[in-house]
Amino acid sequence: MNDPIVIVGAGLGGVRLAENLRNGGHTGGIVLLGQETHPPYDRPPLSKSVVTGHSERVDLKPAEFYTEQDIDLRTGTRVVAVNPDAHTVTVERGGQRSDVAYGTLVLATGLVARRFPGLADDVSGVHVIRTIEDALALREAAGTAKHAAVIGAGFIGCEVAASLREHDVPVTLIEPTPTPLAVAIGARMGQMVTRLHVEADVDLRTGIGVDEIVVEDGAASAVVLSDGSRVDADVVVVGIGGYPELGYLDGSGIELAPRSSGGGIACNGVGRTSVPDVYALGDAANWADAHGDHHRVEHWNHVVDHAALVAAELLGHAITHQSVPYFWSDQFGLKIQMLGSPHPDDEVHVVDDDGRKFLAYYSRDGVLTGVIGAGRVGKLMKTRQYLQTPTPVSALLDQ
Ligand SMILES: Cc1cc2nc3c(=O)[nH]c(=O)nc-3n(C[C@H](O)[C@H](O)[C@H](O)COP(=O)(O)OP(=O)(O)OC[C@H]3O[C@@H](n4cnc5c(N)ncnc54)[C@H](O)[C@@H]3O)c2cc1C
Repeated sequence: MNDPIVIVGAGLGGVRLAENLRNGGHTGGIVLLGQETHPPYDRPPLSKSVVTGHSERVDLKPAEFYTEQDIDLRTGTRVVAVNPDAHTVTVERGGQRSDVAYGTLVLATGLVARRFPGLADDVSGVHVIRTIEDALALREAAGTAKHAAVIGAGFIGCEVAASLREHDVPVTLIEPTPTPLAVAIGARMGQMVTRLHVEADVDLRTGIGVDEIVVEDGAASAVVLSDGSRVDADVVVVGIGGYPELGYLDGSGIELAPRSSGGGIACNGVGRTSVPDVYALGDAANWADAHGDHHRVEHWNHVVDHAALVAAELLGHAITHQSVPYFWSDQFGLKIQMLGSPHPDDEVHVVDDDGRKFLAYYSRDGVLTGVIGAGRVGKLMKTRQYLQTPTPVSALLDQ
């Protein structure tokens, strides 16, 4: 019997790949190795409905899915080494090590949350949000919190601030760039998102960093900003991004991408790594685009696309997949969505704004590069077709 396809990482990418392989007709073995002890779950609800308390279960699939699809899911199983010459991975489970043979290996190990530099891991009151345990711990803390400081107004920081406001916790949101989400959507659209936070009484401090988290008796009590001012906080959420933890690849010969292109596991345009029979996908993978440029992207739909492309490649199917980049965020009851991959400096054309909901186009050299909306789901989705081929932005502005 042939060795199975072994997938490392039982998150969104790993589960989608296993599902696509079965749907595509793969009848051989599929082994899905995940270090977390839970059945695979979805992460977007963690900063939203799990923190607010609206969701309890966020499983990606019903429990019977894995047996019905003959997917050998092994939770609580951490891969500690990849041995390409032997075609095995070394796993650790319950303190025991063993080797698992693979025919093809796919790495889908996601990210770990970046911690506040220099702070001990065991300070109480300091939170990150990457796992279900993180989200449940923050939800519990929200029940008694007097004041929360959220460090970083990227997507997760903004969503956590919104979720904590639902608990009526006073929140200070601190961001070194001029507006929330400035890096992802540009400062002009960041201003539109600012309005939502201000309206919800979030104390937004932009253009300023955090120098220190003050710890008293083992617990966070305040943060000190880079201008020396102090924000008292018994709950501090560190939302400063994540990074791929790839120590398990040491000595494997699998090439990593340079930090300048986002780091992660270096891949070609279908997820193939530098080592035969080894692929990577999802947040941990750094794929080449159609122009040969490398990117590491951390959005749900992007992971789903990767899983479709790797499955097609492994099954020998023609790759017809062509999707427009997309991500969403939920804040204060509004769905903020972006299609395309505009540069934050692209020209912005706001075509609809009621003071809260909005729709805007991005263009570069007169060509549409992206569309962003808040509370404008239908209108935004109708523009997808215009991002599939180069379209003058004037064609949409004239409508
Ligand atoms: C709080 C939060 C909110 C988000 N909200 C949105 C959103 O609104 N919109 C959006 O587009 N995207 C959102 N995302 C991003 C999206 O969830 C990710 O892009 C997606 O989960 C990445 O999937 P993945 O399979 O690459 O990694 P993950 O989902 O992180 O799964 C990787 C799995 O691999 C496991 N693993 C790691 N190392 C090993 C090892 N050595 N051995 C075994 N297992 C290992 C990990 O424990 C993890 O379970 C959000 C992410 C987070 C954290």
